[in-house]
Amino acid sequence: MILYIKNIDTRQDCNKPWEHLLEQYPALVEPIRESWNDPSSFVRKIYMITPTKTRAEQTPDLTRLAQTLYLIPNLFWIVVEDEPQVTLRLRRLLRSFHLPFIHLNIATPDYLKPTQNQSTWRRPRGVFQKNIGLQWLRTNTNKDEDALVYFADDDNTYHWKLFQEIRKVQSVGVWPVGLVGELLYERPICLNGRVHSWFHYMYRKRKFPTDMAGFAIHLRLIHHYSTYVFNVSATSIAEQESQILNTMTTIDQLECLANNATKIYVWHTKTQSMFLTSIERLRNAGMKYDLVNQL
Ligand code: UDP
Ligand code: MN
Repeated sequence: MILYIKNIDTRQDCNKPWEHLLEQYPALVEPIRESWNDPSSFVRKIYMITPTKTRAEQTPDLTRLAQTLYLIPNLFWIVVEDEPQVTLRLRRLLRSFHLPFIHLNIATPDYLKPTQNQSTWRRPRGVFQKNIGLQWLRTNTNKDEDALVYFADDDNTYHWKLFQEIRKVQSVGVWPVGLVGELLYERPICLNGRVHSWFHYMYRKRKFPTDMAGFAIHLRLIHHYSTYVFNVSATSIAEQESQILNTMTTIDQLECLANNATKIYVWHTKTQSMFLTSIERLRNAGMKYDLVNQL
């Protein structure tokens, strides 16, 4: 007998699949009741903006992220590709996930792209792309819609519970981020749901010392501050988060989530760039890739 435990699966051939499974596997934890394609989960909408740059690890990173999103109901994914035109390659990949998404693009100008010998935090990473995402929201969503906006880099690691926290946000919510700022985590230190101070080590002058992954904003504020854009000037890169938060909120308005900011549900992981033999060397060895068009 096959057991399908998603509550909307029409092929379900067993009345109480979960109870049956529990008999078989007593240590099982109850399945997540929500699923992204479940029409019966009436939860607040999340608009998630993901800038994404072209690199060999992009497809696996986005695949991993997309498959996290299968766990998240009512999320609309705004993917902004760092290219002068949207590529067919990325369009095909995004379509293959069967998730609700829009594929936009803008190229970071060459003179602002990180180079090999520059420390990357001095460069805008995904800034132009996030601005395109904001612009899309302002023209394509209703300012009265009760929805949340989250900026999600393509290489971070997201626990599904993070999205439950995002949905609790009334105005601007904050929470810890793992593996960031040369620490195991950075976090707001909270007393009774309000920010008292911050645990952080790098760039101590930041007014809101949190990573982009550490907050979500109500869509209303994105419409209200209708001209706000991230500043692309290279010197203010560690300040991106502080700038948007300083514009749209104040420290005493911030809502501490993730159990009063004691749980880590998102990690600022980085995919290592793989060493790849150059095309030229391969050619010298009499070899060439034949699947490049399918990548
Ligand atoms: N990104 C981009 N263009 C760039 C650099 C980065 O679109 O020139 C994207 C990248 O794919 C990621 C986000 O911006 O989704 C943050 O970049 P990255 O992960 O390199 O930054 P870090 O982890 O160092 O903060
Ligand atoms: Mn990253």
